[in-house]
Amino acid sequence: MVIPGPVEAVLFDLDDTLVDHRGAAERGLRAWLSGLGLADDPAGLEQHVDRWFALEARHYERSQRGEITHTEQRRVRIRAFLPGWDLADDTLADDTFAGFLDYYRSAWRAFADAAEAIRAARAAGLAVGILTNGEQGIQESKLRRTGLAELGVPVFASSELPASKPDRRSYHAACASLGVEPSRCAMVGDSLTNDVYGAERAGLHAVWLDRHGWHDPARHGNVRTRVRRLVDLDWTPTRSRRI
Ligand SMILES: [Mg+2]
Repeated sequence: MVIPGPVEAVLFDLDDTLVDHRGAAERGLRAWLSGLGLADDPAGLEQHVDRWFALEARHYERSQRGEITHTEQRRVRIRAFLPGWDLADDTLADDTFAGFLDYYRSAWRAFADAAEAIRAARAAGLAVGILTNGEQGIQESKLRRTGLAELGVPVFASSELPASKPDRRSYHAACASLGVEPSRCAMVGDSLTNDVYGAERAGLHAVWLDRHGWHDPARHGNVRTRVRRLVDLDWTPTRSRRI
């Protein structure tokens, strides 16, 4: 897949683009639930997993919108997830959530094509950065744990930016740090909202990473550039590059 337009830089999303966040969360969650004695009944286990991710979707998004803090969204989630537990005390709630985090972190893995995609972009002469919604320290430790930190790619995490994706200020801050105009930068990621539509509104090129083949022409007809794997990205300049 040749990227449309002349680009000098690329910003990769992190979670579910370079690092398998969802897979780690699911593997970690199942191991943690097993330790809590909540995995004995297979049907019940699946309900717990579904409930966990529904709570994550609702409350993590609230923290991204600035309605609650990152710590508060964890407390709200763990109290809602374990309603029979007395987690009114903040320290107790934090400690309980930390139990999940231990399993989650030990399950972090980079996708097999992540390092190769970063090296290919650099080999094509592009500046490379990571633009991610999340806490700077957590996202950097994710890179260290998965080995991607060795590549020395700068991480622009929303906790240190003026705003989160899909606010245009997040993309513009990352482009400024890389020293490129937004119109010369491509954003690559798995989220249509954060990595495609938001990036295009901010003036960047956007590539949707559709690892699961969720593309539906009727719904996503306006997604111009889409790849199934990061190694399908082709940064080779072509004469036909016109927007
Ligand atoms: Mg993502």
